Amino acid sequence: MQEQLSRKKFIAKCTGYAGAFIGGALLLNSCKSDESKPDDASVKSGEQPKSMVQPENCNDLSSLSAEEVDKRTKLGYVDHSPSPDMRCEICKLYLPPAEGAKCGGCSLFQGPVDIGASCTYFAPLDA
Ligand code: SF4
Repeated sequence: MQEQLSRKKFIAKCTGYAGAFIGGALLLNSCKSDESKPDDASVKSGEQPKSMVQPENCNDLSSLSAEEVDKRTKLGYVDHSPSPDMRCEICKLYLPPAEGAKCGGCSLFQGPVDIGASCTYFAPLDA
């Protein structure tokens, strides 16, 4: 009987510790900063997040942070591909424009991408 009671206590303690651990992990995860999340204001108003606003000109980077513009530069992004065989339009990493939008995107960075642009990370669709 004594053994059963201590086993019950042990299981109860383990369940309590597991609950506390999972709760703590969930709490920490919810507090973590996530830059990819849209801000509350844009979600409430129904607007696209700043990084996803579609400009008229795909080379308009005014909605991007300096870090995002720098990232594009470091990846060798150019508005006009030096070769017709290296256009974003035929790259695996290209994200086609949303319905009614002019500019697509790229899996590597934020902001608008023209179908005729390119970068050093071009990955052909047919490879
Ligand atoms: S990886 Fe480069 S070439 Fe491919 S879609 Fe992105 S910017 Fe364009």
